[in-house]
Amino acid sequence: MKSNGQDKLERREFLRSLGRWATGGTMALMSVTFAKRRQRLAADNCINKSICCDCSRFSGCRLPAAISAKQAQKNVQQGGMTNG
Ligand code: SF4
Repeated sequence: MKSNGQDKLERREFLRSLGRWATGGTMALMSVTFAKRRQRLAADNCINKSICCDCSRFSGCRLPAAISAKQAQKNVQQGGMTNG
């Protein structure tokens, strides 16, 4: 049978470990969030001075210049420009 003092000690140790795990989990979550944000920002930066035609990222790029270039390509493939 445990004494009251041992129970308090175990409870205190449990709370300490809980705090450590919560802190570690929060830090891990923040690291993943920052890494994803950095990755997204890197993907959102133009790497070829908006010269999309010979850019390696063109197929997956979501920047306005690339979207515009893709639309222009599509228009050319469909047989000319459509304004309006
Ligand atoms: S595809 Fe165009 S907008 Fe996208 S990174 Fe390349 S040059 Fe820049």
